[in-house]
Amino acid sequence: MEKKIIVIGSGPAGISAALYARRSGAEVTVVTKGAGALAKAERIENYYGFAEPLSGAELERQGIAGAKKLGVIFQEGEVMQLGFNDTFDGYQVSGPSFELSAPSVILAAGASRQSLRVPGIAEFEGKGVSYCAICDAFFYRQKRVAVIGSGEYALHEAEVLAPHAAELHILTNGAETDVAFPQEMLLHKQKIAAVEGENHVERIVFEDGSLLPLDGIFLAIGTAGSVALAKKMGILLDGQNIRVDDNMATNVPGIFAAGDCTGGLLQVAKAVYDGARAGLAASKFIRGK
Ligand SMILES: Cc1cc2nc3c(=O)[nH]c(=O)nc-3n(C[C@H](O)[C@H](O)[C@H](O)COP(=O)(O)OP(=O)(O)OC[C@H]3O[C@@H](n4cnc5c(N)ncnc54)[C@H](O)[C@@H]3O)c2cc1C
Repeated sequence: MEKKIIVIGSGPAGISAALYARRSGAEVTVVTKGAGALAKAERIENYYGFAEPLSGAELERQGIAGAKKLGVIFQEGEVMQLGFNDTFDGYQVSGPSFELSAPSVILAAGASRQSLRVPGIAEFEGKGVSYCAICDAFFYRQKRVAVIGSGEYALHEAEVLAPHAAELHILTNGAETDVAFPQEMLLHKQKIAAVEGENHVERIVFEDGSLLPLDGIFLAIGTAGSVALAKKMGILLDGQNIRVDDNMATNVPGIFAAGDCTGGLLQVAKAVYDGARAGLAASKFIRGK
């Protein structure tokens, strides 16, 4: 357990972090839900070392193959929960079919592009708007709560809330869903216009003018991105970017971040550099434990 590092994301930042951490002697597991931003790039012409442009998907494939050669372990699946591990001084990273623990975690899950921009969401953060069911479900015992989202991540958060809530709503905000939400989770597909309340969330207003009285709202749109995972741990942000120091360390000891999720130049070169620094810093951190 002592020498383990978990990297979330297999883009250039995550793979670079894994390479440097592995070469520093750590046992490294990369957890990935698959292709990230890089795979969307048709041609990469501005990265060192390639006379002929290559596709982002090919660069990503080569990166992953190199890490595997060095002995980096890969766990496929979407991370839906990042939390403290109660039985030892470290962190737990889990998804639908896995649960991993390590004293250090590197967040390299790319930029979070999915958020809900409607009036009231930002204003009521911490006053009824939450990003972490497992952290906050307890505060909503016998209350009316809603999860905003339409995918597996939304179902995961709703399942955590189900034993506590008096009423549980799923708000897809206009999106279709192929997830089989249980019947007791009440599905609403209308678009959301606003979140309203006095000092705390009191209701959702839909674009069709209808109202849904609520005590709490949990955001779980799309997949759990870097920022959603960071918010579960109380990691500080600068806007939609994870705040890091010169060693890519967040404010939570042992948790580092690298690549697009930390903002700045959203390019492969910067992601690779960030990853290298985070991998080295995480290795140093676990050696000091
Ligand atoms: C269309 C397009 C063209 C581009 N062209 C260029 C270019 O020409 N040159 C250039 O330098 N840059 C280019 N970029 C930018 C470049 O792709 C990014 O800056 C770079 O990929 C960022 O690396 P990253 O590792 O931070 O994130 P990403 O590459 O986005 O990788 C994120 C990783 O995290 C994983 N992940 C996310 N959430 C979870 C979760 N909950 N659980 C498990 N895994 C998760 C993803 O599956 C992925 O493996 C382009 C980007 C796009 C979209």
